[in-house]
Amino acid sequence: MFNSLSEKLESAFKNLKGQARITELNIANTVKDIRRALIDADVNFKIAKEFTDKVKEKALGEKVINSVSPGQLMVKIVQDELTELMGGTAADFSVTGNPAIILIAGLQGSGKTTFTGKLANYLKVQKGKSPMVVAADIYRPAAIDQLTVLGEQIGVPVYAERDNKDAVSIALNAIKEARAQNKNVVIIDTAGRLAIDEAMMTEVANIKQAVNPTEILFVVDAMTGQDAVNTAKAFNDRLDFTGVVLTKLDGDTRGGAALSIKYTVQKPIKFMSSGEKMDTLDVFYPDRMAQRILGMGDIASLVEKAQQQFDEEKAKKLEKKIRKNQFDFQDFLEQLQQIKKMGNLKDLMGMIPGVGKAIKDIDINDDAFKGIEAIIYSMTPEERANPDLIDQRRKARIAKGSGKDIQEVNAFMKQFEQMKKMMGAMNKLPMGGRMPGFRR
Ligand code: GDP
Repeated sequence: MFNSLSEKLESAFKNLKGQARITELNIANTVKDIRRALIDADVNFKIAKEFTDKVKEKALGEKVINSVSPGQLMVKIVQDELTELMGGTAADFSVTGNPAIILIAGLQGSGKTTFTGKLANYLKVQKGKSPMVVAADIYRPAAIDQLTVLGEQIGVPVYAERDNKDAVSIALNAIKEARAQNKNVVIIDTAGRLAIDEAMMTEVANIKQAVNPTEILFVVDAMTGQDAVNTAKAFNDRLDFTGVVLTKLDGDTRGGAALSIKYTVQKPIKFMSSGEKMDTLDVFYPDRMAQRILGMGDIASLVEKAQQQFDEEKAKKLEKKIRKNQFDFQDFLEQLQQIKKMGNLKDLMGMIPGVGKAIKDIDINDDAFKGIEAIIYSMTPEERANPDLIDQRRKARIAKGSGKDIQEVNAFMKQFEQMKKMMGAMNKLPMGGRMPGFRR
């Protein structure tokens, strides 16, 4: 995400290498390069200029501290300003009300329906809510089908009326039905057009007026840069929405939309979405995004993701097994699945400081685990629990079952043994390999 912007900013800071202090003269090139980087990322010229003027003013006004180099100071200032530009702190998202009503608007193809599914899944899984989703697109029957498939996938009921051509009445009926079914959140996916058009705007505005939503989210494809910003403006003028959702951040996105939308419409970005998997929705944190843009990694996001997946009961059991040197293939499989649930492998690794850049051109395939999984899946439950059971004959069967060579099975089993040994060795250290002050 935003790789080119990150690189250009980093090279802008290089101008300051070896400088002992900040002067108007020596930051001139850096400031110019930052502005260029922003404009290249499809940030509007006016916003880019205002941004660098602020950075310059702050840099010249900063006291020089011996322990901080001008380069480091500039990184800090730019990071703070990027955070500010994207809204400062994370915005609230309200799901109060019974039911809470969330209206989803945006152009066709922006990712509205996909987002509707992701949001429902997020509210159900992360927030313990009981959502219902509504297909209020009266023009495209395929949109109803699409939402129905997603609803089934995430286990959330979908409300649709295939023969009703009045989106307002569909929305109102859906809310009645949600009340009857004790659903506490209703997410209404509305129709979009390929371009802004009056009929579409009127329709969404009418639904808004009829249902009085708790939140109105405007969904926009981040890849469209300044166009995204213009569309946001048009929708906001009509709908006065409560927040923005940036989608398709997994693609080759330059960053312009993320950086300029808040400034232009004065509405916060509340969620960002990348990929089509139902569990890849993230709350938008301006500070973390700024850190990521600057290539400083994003440990906070990584920790939060890990925490979301963390099951204390299970972790304790696992720790016990490791201590007794009983870690087996089933445990290993579960660990792999935990990691996979945290999202796309490359994105996860990219959050580790310094790693993002290093792996930018490397193709890290989420299928990397598939071979290992296939091998473990081909084992019987007894074999998974007792790796020692696996003799040559069983290995041959496992190889056949997983479509691997026996050498691959051997190599994996050897790695597993080595890993187990390492885990055992860690446990022999004082405090079971734990660092003082760290809980595991
Ligand atoms: P809608 O017309 O606004 O409802 O948009 P859809 O949800 O149907 O999405 C349009 C297309 O973009 C579909 O092919 C989706 O699978 C795809 N899509 C949606 N969100 C994302 C995303 O975050 N990343 C990627 N790569 N594709 C997405």
